[in-house]
Amino acid sequence: MQAPTADELLREPAVQEALEQAWIDSLADDPLRRHEEGGWVYLNTTTGSIGIRRAPVGGQAFLDLSSPPILPDAVVVATFHTHPNPSAEGWESGPSTADTQSAWGFGVPCIIRADDGIHTTGPNSRRGGLTGGRGYPP
Ligand SMILES: [Zn+2]
Repeated sequence: MQAPTADELLREPAVQEALEQAWIDSLADDPLRRHEEGGWVYLNTTTGSIGIRRAPVGGQAFLDLSSPPILPDAVVVATFHTHPNPSAEGWESGPSTADTQSAWGFGVPCIIRADDGIHTTGPNSRRGGLTGGRGYPP
């Protein structure tokens, strides 16, 4: 079993559903309440199935993904979050510098859902494959 690439994960129904649910929960149409949502994508190394865990709610342009929950028989293979602020108003829809830096630091692909679609940054797949512990890779 290999660590899935960002493109492979984007074809997974569980990942697509998680991105859309996070987008809905971000309240992008509400200027006062819109905020980032997101979480982590896991691969169960026994069954090969994809799992999702959501992070605590974020701020208007912030979400803390530094501490993924540790799940039995599963490793973190990506993070995901939303950019709910409108690109038409000048907000960056794609990865921020902090998104790219944290993705390389965490060692897994970063998937972003924005109003103009889906963006990715960071490594193409989990650094070092599926070894190295169940949270982020070493
Ligand atoms: Zn971001």
